[in-house]
Amino acid sequence: AKTPGAGSIQFFSPGDDEAAARRHALARDLPSALANDQLWLAFQPFLDLGSDRIRGFEALLRWQHPTLGPIPPSEFISIAEETGLIHAIGHWVVKTACLAAARWPRDLRVSVNLSVMQLKNKALLDGIVAALAEAGLEPRRLEVEITETVLISNFEETISLLQSLSSLSVTVALDDFGTGYSSLTYLRKLPLSRLKIDRSFVQDMLADADCAAIVRSLIELAHELRIEVTAEGVETLHQLDYLRRVGCDEAQGYLIGKPDRIDDIPGIAAKQFGQ
Ligand code: C2E
Ligand code: CA
Ligand code: CA
Ligand code: CA
Repeated sequence: AKTPGAGSIQFFSPGDDEAAARRHALARDLPSALANDQLWLAFQPFLDLGSDRIRGFEALLRWQHPTLGPIPPSEFISIAEETGLIHAIGHWVVKTACLAAARWPRDLRVSVNLSVMQLKNKALLDGIVAALAEAGLEPRRLEVEITETVLISNFEETISLLQSLSSLSVTVALDDFGTGYSSLTYLRKLPLSRLKIDRSFVQDMLADADCAAIVRSLIELAHELRIEVTAEGVETLHQLDYLRRVGCDEAQGYLIGKPDRIDDIPGIAAKQFGQ
């Protein structure tokens, strides 16, 4: 065994080695993934709790690597950001999501996730406008999801970008609400149509009265501000029934549908989630 000398890494383990090698391989292969059709979009439905109807789908990016198999976005989005590929990939996501939605019934929306780096890119707005035009999709049927992290370093620029989008009728959702440095300033200053309550609250709310109180208060606050609320990560009928009772607008989660390829919209839309 080596004795650690000055300047050597002291806490090196075989696990780190493997993780670094994998990350290196992914960074090497990501540039060709787009050109080689290894990226695809899974779609996860939103259920309207008032009408019990599907209101639309969120696009979630997938990478099918030729030898390593499916790579989750939690692993490769950060690589895409570090290498600057996020802009090309992000544009492909918006374009592909708009093209898909253009074939759906006209009352369904599509939402796409935008990362911090994408929102700093001056070309983003033009890219979205071009994607909408190319697909012939009405802008009101597109929603963008952002997280609070983007707002910390970039508040003024992000507000003005989001205002441009909403003046086109593209709507804006604040994702993972409650997990980061959630500030009430965001609810007041951003042109938000929707707040997505993070999965961790939905998971705990039935066992933890304080958590349930937060969920109820968030819904009430959002509604006072004319912001709709979507609960993420709904996995049980109990959770769904509770959210319905406390006036949550929409639910998303494995109970309603896992992210998947969609070829049967009428079938998905006809699914029932009875009380
Ligand atoms: P997110 O936007 O918060 O997406 C929700 C994540 O929770 C998805 O993971 C989804 O598969 C998972 N999920 C949905 N319902 C349930 C449930 O009932 N239970 C559990 N346990 N999980 C559920 P996924 O697809 O692995 O995506 C992870 C994150 O990667 C997303 O979090 C989003 O931040 C990011 N991401 C995905 N697609 C894109 C993209 O096209 N662009 C960017 N910039 N980021 C993306
Ligand atoms: Ca999201
Ligand atoms: Ca989320
Ligand atoms: Ca998340």
